[in-house]
Amino acid sequence: MRIRHALARFAAAITLAAAGLLTLGVEVAEAQQPSAPTYDVYAIRYATVPNFRLSGLIAGANTSQRIDLAMMVWLLKGSDGRNVLVDAGFHRDNLIRRWHPRDYVLPSDAVARAGVKPEDITDLIVTHVHWDHLGGIDLFPNATIWIQREEFEHHLDSAGTVKDRMIDAPDAQILARLAREGRVRLIDGDAKEIIPGITVYTGGKHTYASQYAAVRSSVGTIVVASDNMYLYRNLAEHVPIAQTLDAASNLRAQARMVTLASDPRLIVPGHDPEVFVRFPKPGNGIALIR
Ligand SMILES: [Zn+2]
Repeated sequence: MRIRHALARFAAAITLAAAGLLTLGVEVAEAQQPSAPTYDVYAIRYATVPNFRLSGLIAGANTSQRIDLAMMVWLLKGSDGRNVLVDAGFHRDNLIRRWHPRDYVLPSDAVARAGVKPEDITDLIVTHVHWDHLGGIDLFPNATIWIQREEFEHHLDSAGTVKDRMIDAPDAQILARLAREGRVRLIDGDAKEIIPGITVYTGGKHTYASQYAAVRSSVGTIVVASDNMYLYRNLAEHVPIAQTLDAASNLRAQARMVTLASDPRLIVPGHDPEVFVRFPKPGNGIALIR
């Protein structure tokens, strides 16, 4: 009787130990998941375009109101050493002469202020083909360029010929050349996790197939909206961006961003100087979103 009791206790102990090992095994497997990296997300300002008409940003805004546009790129610094840039800014002389930006620095120099050399940018996500987002792609010599297939094919052909005037001719030439060199990856549509922890979405309709990115960070999911949401006001007042091919679809995209972000305050607009007020650190034109 006593022996049987001891045996039963021994069996119970073995079962417990096995369960413990099993739990340990699960934890090890989770820790080794390849999709685990998180990103620090920085808005980086490389220029200001002063006195821009607010009605060019907010549909229906008073035509006499003006705003100083923050010109930004967004750096996603991965815990796995990957350095992803969202958009590339602009740098050609004719654009600088035309727009008279204040406090202009090369977007690559602005990124260097955040501690990442241009050659260390591994990936560059182009949200859309406008000059102030695409024009700087040749400043980052080792980056793989990610753009929606529909955005690319709608605006240019493989020789770099412009098919829709939303893209500037020199930008089309450079993008086509990088594609011929095998540095461009075309994304097939909505809700694609193109890089572990970074998922892109379409439907913002700022351009034909503009995209935005949801990024896994240590504070939750951050949405880098780019021009699919110009200003915080678009979201707060439920107003579409002024430049859109489809206002209803733009509003739907903004509503979706709210469901994707861990908190609405983690949705980063494309040109709002307020970003650097809400996220003042580390400063000097760099805002850590958190
Ligand atoms: Zn734009």
